[in-house]
Amino acid sequence: MSGSAALAQFEILRNPQPLPDAERAAILENPGFGRFFTDHMVTVRYAEGKGWHDARIEPFGPLSLSPATAVLHYAQEIFEGMKAYSRPDGSVGLFRPWENARRFQRSAQRMAMPELPEELFLASLEAILSIDREWIPTTEDSSLYLRPFMFASEAFLGVRPSLEYIYGVIASPAGAYFKAGPKPVNMWVSQEYTRAAPGGTGAAKCGGNYATSLLPQAEAAKHGCEQVVFLDAVHRKYVDELGGMNVFFVYGEEKRVITPELGTILPGITRDAVITLAQEKGYEVIERRYGIDEWKADAASGALTEVFACGTAAVVTPIGNVSDHTGSFPASGGVAGPLTMDLRSALLAIQYGEAEDVHGWTT
Ligand code: PMP
Repeated sequence: MSGSAALAQFEILRNPQPLPDAERAAILENPGFGRFFTDHMVTVRYAEGKGWHDARIEPFGPLSLSPATAVLHYAQEIFEGMKAYSRPDGSVGLFRPWENARRFQRSAQRMAMPELPEELFLASLEAILSIDREWIPTTEDSSLYLRPFMFASEAFLGVRPSLEYIYGVIASPAGAYFKAGPKPVNMWVSQEYTRAAPGGTGAAKCGGNYATSLLPQAEAAKHGCEQVVFLDAVHRKYVDELGGMNVFFVYGEEKRVITPELGTILPGITRDAVITLAQEKGYEVIERRYGIDEWKADAASGALTEVFACGTAAVVTPIGNVSDHTGSFPASGGVAGPLTMDLRSALLAIQYGEAEDVHGWTT
């Protein structure tokens, strides 16, 4: 779909006071993450019996909600996260956005919310990119972060699925995640808290999953670590994932890569791409349960040569030290390994349109 075809599906209320060019340029020089927003946002409403309606592009600004709005009480809310990349030929790239559309539908299903049609999801992204195109940063490793979300908007305190919803997309310029290239990230293994149990919401991208990760994340920070490693909720010994990234274990000598199997973890779109790229580089990729004891033992013996995290924000990032209540060990020598760096540059080259997209991953 072209930007104008996407825009045609929305009523357009232009922001009468867009940020002046000089101020926007200053923000784009050093945007950080999640702090600044573009001039517009998308909103689409849903009502039981009426379906999706009132699709709009409107000025970015506050929403007015009743204090009884269901989401404020029962957290019926889901979101997605993706980046739009400025490419050398002047076009704008998205990485597998239809996968985000489908994951958004699966998250909706789990949270008893209506599914947004895939075409409307994709049109909403193209529409905001088209109207706020000047907000896409062009400095190295920067992007425009897109945040589609949906929440229960009915003003009703009964505990049942809301009869009304608002879907929205906001956009925020994002700088390079690691300014000086990827630096190994230190991990805290949470013994006390888990992220997701079988039958729970671990595979859905719902706000509640992130609310419960904040306390263990604070614990990690107290121990000098940037991310939490969550263990499975049943045995408390298998690695699930990190607070906002999936994890891979590389056995370089054996050309084997292990990553936790799907189920209670978020099915990362980067994770899926990394599996394909690693296989193409001649590695056997195994999806299975991976114990924290196995991690410690194989890091100590040297069999485990690299450990990395992956996700939209961090792309592919090496893991440095791993700490828990018993002490600390280097994940795998604590350096950025060759496969980690190789996968990282391969993925970035596809995302930024600098390599041929043989998988048809970008649009
Ligand atoms: N796990 C969690 C808990 C996340 O929040 C994310 C980020 N969406 C990921 C994994 C990585 O997913 P993706 O590669 O789709 O960004």
